[in-house]
Amino acid sequence: MNNCQVSTGLPLAAAALIVCLALATLVSGAPRRSKKEPDVEPLIPSDDWRRLGEPKPGDWLYVFDEPGQTFAEYKRELKNRKSDRRDKIYVVPIGELDRKHPDLLKSSVRYFSIFFDCEVVQLDPRPLPRSTYNAKRGQYDAGAALDKLLLPLVRERKDALAMIGLTSEDLYHGTLNFVFGVGSHRDRVGLQSVYRFYRWIPKGKDRDRVALVRTLKTGSHEIGHILGMSHCTFYECVMNGSNSLDESDRRPLFLCPVCMSKLEWNTGLDRLARYRKLRDFFKQCKLKGDEAFCKRRAEELEKLKASSTE
Ligand SMILES: [Zn+2]
Ligand SMILES: [Zn+2]
Repeated sequence: MNNCQVSTGLPLAAAALIVCLALATLVSGAPRRSKKEPDVEPLIPSDDWRRLGEPKPGDWLYVFDEPGQTFAEYKRELKNRKSDRRDKIYVVPIGELDRKHPDLLKSSVRYFSIFFDCEVVQLDPRPLPRSTYNAKRGQYDAGAALDKLLLPLVRERKDALAMIGLTSEDLYHGTLNFVFGVGSHRDRVGLQSVYRFYRWIPKGKDRDRVALVRTLKTGSHEIGHILGMSHCTFYECVMNGSNSLDESDRRPLFLCPVCMSKLEWNTGLDRLARYRKLRDFFKQCKLKGDEAFCKRRAEELEKLKASSTE
């Protein structure tokens, strides 16, 4: 189980709730590095795979002492595995998201279906319950929104492997002054906000493209948690914890060799087909660096396949 939890006192068990990509109000502690070593090596060595260095002050691993999770541990601990009976990811547009950012929603649905090799079902838009709004803060309570809106929806759908809500409203949680996403492995549900993704745009960058990358990154990270993946402490990886938007922006969109093995084991996906589809997706989105990464992975897998059949 992931251990970046926040005590909420809400019906959604605190121990089950994972808070991600949040700016902690208390930034303290000393840098601690996991003693665990990765138990999966890259299929082919490449400069694309970079081990995580020492965390800098303010980074997630500087603030939160997380042990990491090996592939062997994942297989032992997993409680949410794709099956014939439970094989869909549900996406729920919340609030104004589908009207404000229709292209973002469409791209997210397509991306999650490729990334997780699952059918993705988009539900009708829903408003955030008024009772989850905190007028003093001008924000919605993420834990309460999960409880009141998303938990009843996911419980009605017995074929739900995961459910993720996307909202354009600003979220907070517990003592954290805002959160980009929260997720629960036990309850198969998560929620992410794109509110701040459109506000802090690095100078000279395309606003919509930056927000798209951030949304794909946070959404796949949250769904990864719902599928039982803890924060990655081994490589630069989309499953790294992030304590700020700056740290999140530094992280890649991709799963490292260890986390890739976890997802493959969970869903039974075809790596080569997945990388080819991701390559085409990034080409369409004009994300050249990400397209090139997927092209390299697909070429590696093609070579491995060819050499094994020689
Ligand atoms: Zn996380
Ligand atoms: Zn990883």
